[in-house]
Amino acid sequence: MSDFDIIIVGGGIAGASLGAEVAGKRRTLIIEAESQCGYHSTGRSAAFYLESYGGPEVAKLNAASHSFLASPPAEFFHHSFLRKRGDLHIARDDLPVLPDGIESRAVERAELEKMVPGIRPEWRRALFEPGCADIDVASLHAAFLGQFRRNGGEVRPNASLRSARHGKGGWIVELQDGSTISADVIVNAAGAWADPVATACGAAPLGVAPKRRTMVQLRVGRTGLRDLPLVDDAEGTFYFKGEGDSSVWLSPHDEIETDPCDAAPEEIDIATAIDRFEKVVDWPVERVERSWAGLRSFAPDRLPVYGFDRDVPDFFWCAGQGGFGIQTSPAAAKMAAALLLDENPHQSVARIDPTVFSPRRF
Ligand SMILES: Cc1cc2nc3c(=O)[nH]c(=O)nc-3n(C[C@H](O)[C@H](O)[C@H](O)COP(=O)(O)OP(=O)(O)OC[C@H]3O[C@@H](n4cnc5c(N)ncnc54)[C@H](O)[C@@H]3O)c2cc1C
Repeated sequence: MSDFDIIIVGGGIAGASLGAEVAGKRRTLIIEAESQCGYHSTGRSAAFYLESYGGPEVAKLNAASHSFLASPPAEFFHHSFLRKRGDLHIARDDLPVLPDGIESRAVERAELEKMVPGIRPEWRRALFEPGCADIDVASLHAAFLGQFRRNGGEVRPNASLRSARHGKGGWIVELQDGSTISADVIVNAAGAWADPVATACGAAPLGVAPKRRTMVQLRVGRTGLRDLPLVDDAEGTFYFKGEGDSSVWLSPHDEIETDPCDAAPEEIDIATAIDRFEKVVDWPVERVERSWAGLRSFAPDRLPVYGFDRDVPDFFWCAGQGGFGIQTSPAAAKMAAALLLDENPHQSVARIDPTVFSPRRF
């Protein structure tokens, strides 16, 4: 018998949430290359829930995740992971069009000035999406890992998959330190490293490409910003939201191609962010309090990838979560678990077609 039924490679939100769904049913191990599970993308997000984000197919996963995030089961977590904020999609001219069924309303200039005092005159109107909320990402990730462990799952930090071979008895996984572990199934939840992990397991890469995104915490000469809505533009060139009374989290909405790595912000991207911000509001920029960057990894069609590999047996993809991996995690994990265990899906995702996300689509 193998050491484990399932080895999940990667302990970010993707691996942790899927692990939480399967641990009670299969002997499951999460191996994580870093000393801490949320070290990469999961620990660096902008931490918001925005139902319209990611296009119509991803929006289904967003919507199916909402009630779990808003009121999780008591045994999972003791209060909501969401804190309502709302999102203003501001525009010079035409308002953006959101996927069907998402609550929104048009906001004209007079109201916009009240919602974002000091907004420059060229921004004439906005579409307000009231359902946008902050997500308590650290608590959500910890709660998934907590459920995983309570159900018998094991997490091994500082354990990096170097290679794996599939034979008659299943998988033999070799770690960076030379030790080996056997398992029936490998789950590839390695985020930016999804393609290299596939290659190391003898599977063809799917073209999951990491793209760097920069975040800046700015101190500005303005107060009362804590509950400022998320503000973004219809063209997708920036977003910012209130953080402290006089600070915002700002991103230039960058997507810079990179190899998988421990991403760090570049001066030019911070400068671009501030330049775009100053074209939106007249608030004096006082200083950069901190900045960071993380990788958002996309498959070629920008949809996530859930399902068994076309050619290599017992190799399951859970990758390509782009910029929506936190907000989709509850529903995506339930859908992926049903595929992985060959079970009927949970009722919250029963109407979502999983073939849209299959690796076999490439
Ligand atoms: C700046 C920024 C803002 C974002 N904002 C949002 C947002 O507001 N809302 C939202 O929903 N999403 C957001 N995202 C996206 C979200 O953060 C990601 O989709 C999500 O974190 C991806 O999770 P993951 O588990 O796939 O990746 P990761 O968290 O990167 O986890 C993958 C793990 O795999 C491990 N690993 C890799 N190779 C190996 C190996 N060989 N052996 C063992 N372990 C390995 C890595 O060490 C890593 O810990 C944002 C992302 C960024 C960068």
